[in-house]
Amino acid sequence: MPKNIGLQIVTPEKLVVNEDVQIVMAPGVLGEFGVLIGHTPFLSLLKLGVVHYRDVHGVEKNVFISKGFAEVLPDKVTILAESAERSSDIDTDRAQRAAERARKRLAMNAAKENIDHSRASAALDRAMQRLKLAGTIRNR
Ligand code: ATP
Repeated sequence: MPKNIGLQIVTPEKLVVNEDVQIVMAPGVLGEFGVLIGHTPFLSLLKLGVVHYRDVHGVEKNVFISKGFAEVLPDKVTILAESAERSSDIDTDRAQRAAERARKRLAMNAAKENIDHSRASAALDRAMQRLKLAGTIRNR
């Protein structure tokens, strides 16, 4: 049996992670779950959050994901997400601008200005999660 798990994190635009890892933690809709080699296969929806993993050298890495889906196999984890970035690839200025834009929309009168509040609220959640991850964990 192999020692490591093959982790892939994929979006419609790009392959963000393709690495052998020791452990993966992912934000399942029913709570965060961890996967080690040999795990029982399962599928899970993922909510917006952070996928944490430890690479083969024991280095912990963190990847932002907007909502998605995970397929867990005994030696492989595949995560399909709407968007994903390694913490070191997050553009904090862009996330700040996205947060400001979303806050302005949320402050407007939805009916009068034709604003989709749930969309603005989801955009704000993405921006805040990106800023949190980029601000607390660097160079990974
Ligand atoms: P924005 O309004 O700035 O586009 P968003 O939350 O609407 O933000 P998404 O739809 O989640 O953006 O992502 C669109 C693409 O842009 C994806 O490839 C995503 O990885 C990338 N992306 C979005 N925001 C950032 C960021 N702050 N840093 C790096 N990449 C980002």
